[in-house]
Amino acid sequence: MEIGIIGLGLIGGSLAIDLRQKGHRVLGVSRRAETCQQAIERGIVDHASTDLALMATAEVVFLCTPLGAIEATLNHLVPHLSPATVLTDVGSVKATVVELIAPRWHNFVGGHPMAGKAESGLDVAQAELFVDRAYVLTPINTTPPTAIETVADLAQSLGCRVYHCRPEEHDRAVAWISHLPVMISASLINACLQEPNHTVSTLAQKFASSGFRDTSRVGGGNPELGVMMARYNQAALLQSLYSYRQQLDQFIQEIEQANWPALEQQLILSQQGRPNFSGT
Ligand code: NAP
Repeated sequence: MEIGIIGLGLIGGSLAIDLRQKGHRVLGVSRRAETCQQAIERGIVDHASTDLALMATAEVVFLCTPLGAIEATLNHLVPHLSPATVLTDVGSVKATVVELIAPRWHNFVGGHPMAGKAESGLDVAQAELFVDRAYVLTPINTTPPTAIETVADLAQSLGCRVYHCRPEEHDRAVAWISHLPVMISASLINACLQEPNHTVSTLAQKFASSGFRDTSRVGGGNPELGVMMARYNQAALLQSLYSYRQQLDQFIQEIEQANWPALEQQLILSQQGRPNFSGT
């Protein structure tokens, strides 16, 4: 199959590596000529260009730019696509993206591979990033079943577990398990940085070990991506942040009141609930 990837960064580059390895012919478009050059030199794509006209022969196109670049990219892309081309995206937010693309391209299915890293760009693209990860597809009533099947088959071939849900359901679910954790983790780092005593602050930084590494990882990632999550998933993220604030207030109250049995009860619930989340 001839597959187009637009946006040769972490996700686009990693998809290109695996798809090419599976025997597909991969055409890449990125913003900077240096990135296109690097993608060719590393054998990540068969051809690369900064010109979206390269997508004219692609049977499936993955839009892998940052969320903020999707609209402008779509405007320039549509005139180059052949009517049968299946278009999909990898954006971390789905409702706004689907509302934007579906009326412009009938053969479109929204997608989100649930894999990532703290770093961004083609330098950190890697093989098998998506193995054993969820790949969520968010078709709507008008999405052609053949488009869904095509993208689902490709995702499955990368070793992903494929799920289908409505775009809004996706956004509420990822607010809980992806976007809220970024804000909590970033708040944790920023709160620690506010320690006023220099000695204590230095000691904390030296003592930090696996627990802090795990809980601070997603908060120390790409700021641009965090802002995009908040901007494009504002309502769902706010709902989970309000709920989280209530939980935090409850912990504060129990600790202030030295209500250890109540605190223990809360922690028992957390311990019992954690295994419900796959990947933990
Ligand atoms: P990234 O590493 O920053 O890659 C995006 C790439 O897109 C950049 O390297 C840039 O390449 C290129 N680009 C920027 N503007 C462009 C434009 N107007 N036209 C063509 N290419 C352009 O970002 P990413 O982490 O791969 O994220 C890409 C998408 O994946 C986002 O929609 C994000 O929501 C989604 N996603 C991210 C993660 C994650 O954890 N990172 C996980 C799942 C989904 P140049 O070098 O050419 O400038």
